[in-house]
Amino acid sequence: MTSKRLHSEDQLVEMVLDMPAAPLPRGFVGTFGFSESEIESEALRLHYTIGQPMRWSIDVCRSLSPMTLQINKLKKEKGVFLIAHSYQTPDITYGVADSVADSYALSKEARDSPQQTILFSSVRFMAETAKIVSPHKTVLHPSPDAGCSLSDGITAEDVISLKEKNPGVPVVCYINTSAAVKAECDVCVTSSNYLKICERLPGEKVIFVPDRFMGKHLQDSLRGKKEVLIYDGECEVHAEFTGKKIRKWKDNMSNHGIDLIVLSHPECDSEVLQESDFVGSSESLKEEAIRLAGEGKRDLMLITECGTADRILAETNNHLNLMGSCVMCRHMKKTQLEDILQALTDPLPQQIVEIDERTIRRASRTLEEMFRLAE
Ligand code: SF4
Repeated sequence: MTSKRLHSEDQLVEMVLDMPAAPLPRGFVGTFGFSESEIESEALRLHYTIGQPMRWSIDVCRSLSPMTLQINKLKKEKGVFLIAHSYQTPDITYGVADSVADSYALSKEARDSPQQTILFSSVRFMAETAKIVSPHKTVLHPSPDAGCSLSDGITAEDVISLKEKNPGVPVVCYINTSAAVKAECDVCVTSSNYLKICERLPGEKVIFVPDRFMGKHLQDSLRGKKEVLIYDGECEVHAEFTGKKIRKWKDNMSNHGIDLIVLSHPECDSEVLQESDFVGSSESLKEEAIRLAGEGKRDLMLITECGTADRILAETNNHLNLMGSCVMCRHMKKTQLEDILQALTDPLPQQIVEIDERTIRRASRTLEEMFRLAE
């Protein structure tokens, strides 16, 4: 285990490993007509808001600030609501996004916003979810080739085949699925409500797709009440963590007199969840970390994608010792400010989310069933 700064008297410690480097512009950016002082003041805003002075130095922020200024200007001029998933990089989440959260909360916000154009900085299935709940709005997705190992691991045909083999058994899909998959399922769930909804479904059996780790967690939780048939998908990011690794990190820290509090995402293996003090969605992990920081508990291990660590560090003003490791999602990190700028300025056809009416109607029913059962 390495650290950027080591524990010392009253100094706060930052031990987040393998955090991705700040993304630099892909090429020459120019000033977009902004003055030197406007660029400097935007660079300072980014630098202090992101709150990670080593990774997001003032030079890095200065190189990105003409783009954040231009995006914020275009967004207002064109009446676009720009939303970003928590796993996007901080120049997006703190530089240009109007709202940052998980895909479910953002899709609802997008639906309720007065703006008729939504730009969703995220992976593909999330932009599709926004389109399903706001079919009459224009939904822009800056990185059309940004996929997801969970969502891409199952097709509508796979669901049809599962239903044929298990007639009458309700199929529950995690929200990390394409619109076409949602259209074939009975109800959709999120990481905050999957236990509650599966328990409430009628019958003695349920099929859960596509995440095998959440499926295993469901099997364990519903043992004796309901049989859970699971699919073989996984999130390639959360699959990286193992119970053995967590125990090793905890032991290492304990040898240094540090009692780690472990916060994990439910997309992890059940052994990881057993080693954890708190399990929850990205938003609840962030809230729990902020709550713990408020109680003066600083030594946390965060078992999830690096973007959650970025948000916690920014929102606790770097007053936490995040130890161990985070894993970067290569799909989430595909989007850069340039892609957002392109989608805002002159969207490419593939940056405009189009889903046929029948799929929208059927997928929408699956989401509505979630709202009903989650009440
Ligand atoms: S973190 Fe995992 S679930 Fe989320 S987009 Fe990346 S691969 Fe998909």
